[in-house]
Amino acid sequence: MGILEERFDPNIVTTTVDAFLDWARKSSLWPMGFGLACCAIEMMATSMSRYDLDRFGASVFRSSPRQSDLLIVSGTVTLKMASRVKRLYDQMAEPRYVISMGSCANTGGPYWEHGYHVLKGVDRIIPVDVYIAGCPPRPEALIDGVLQLQKKIAQQRVVRKAV
Ligand code: SF4
Repeated sequence: MGILEERFDPNIVTTTVDAFLDWARKSSLWPMGFGLACCAIEMMATSMSRYDLDRFGASVFRSSPRQSDLLIVSGTVTLKMASRVKRLYDQMAEPRYVISMGSCANTGGPYWEHGYHVLKGVDRIIPVDVYIAGCPPRPEALIDGVLQLQKKIAQQRVVRKAV
């Protein structure tokens, strides 16, 4: 190697394309700025300075589904709202991810038995990647949900699936 000997070792990282793409995706989640009920207040708190969701690369809330790849369903999904949630999900860029935040989004919550107007789980209309329990979940729980989603994204195999 002569003059190049031992000049690159400290500065070179070897990895796979899959690992690189997964790292980029999990580190730059763009949630949609969209809340449905009380859980959304906790979601907003999570993105503020006290809990600072930005530390995990997931706090650039976008106003358009076209610019979002994470839908946090934060609140009660009424039957009237369900078709709108589905439409917003369909308009999001792929790959896209969904976090169901709180009992209402998970199962209908307090409205499970007598809430004639409430969808009994958002997974009846869109696929859910991570469920977070609570009524409402605290910001720490939402942060944990984002970390669980990031772990899931880190195991995706984009290139291997294509070949
Ligand atoms: S789970 Fe509880 S806090 Fe969240 S939207 Fe439903 S009633 Fe409100």
